[in-house]
Amino acid sequence: MGRWINKIIKPTVAPEPEDHIAIEDLARLADGAVDKAENQHFIRHLNRCQRCYEILQETLKDLADEASVQTTSSPWWKTRTAYALAASIILVLLIGGQLVFNYWNQRPQVILATLNLDQQLKDILLVDDALRWEKGERVNRLVAALQQKGLQVKELNLVVLSKPYYQKKSLFGPKEALHIRIENKVAYLEVKEMNQ
Ligand SMILES: [Zn+2]
Repeated sequence: MGRWINKIIKPTVAPEPEDHIAIEDLARLADGAVDKAENQHFIRHLNRCQRCYEILQETLKDLADEASVQTTSSPWWKTRTAYALAASIILVLLIGGQLVFNYWNQRPQVILATLNLDQQLKDILLVDDALRWEKGERVNRLVAALQQKGLQVKELNLVVLSKPYYQKKSLFGPKEALHIRIENKVAYLEVKEMNQ
């Protein structure tokens, strides 16, 4: 199963796609418990999304490890439930009411986080409308801000923004969130309106 999936999925490091596959769906996919339409939908996403691909890889690895364990009774934490799998892949941290999750492949470390877009972050985004920020004062300010919010970022060589950020005109508009993905000292940022 794992090998088969490896063959058909070739992720490219593309911009972060809209909706990620839920952890439990990745677990079902790894288990082969999806129908054809779902399968196609997931594969299409996995082709474009490094994040989901890596989580799936880890899930498959876990399943392979589990299968190679020759015991008849598995300990409760090895039961093949989506949540047990998820727990083995992702460390979920709640920092100041915000969901931040770090997960590790062997290398490199990938940090994914969704932060409330507060004034400190807005100020950094509003400096100008450049979409690529090379190392410098602005990048340092961002690193400092992210560290304050609990992200384990040491340094960044490049920051890539999905689109220019403009201040919302209405104070009562929907709240915004900053989605961040950091890999190889490059941070990808995307501002999205929060649904709730
Ligand atoms: Zn995804």
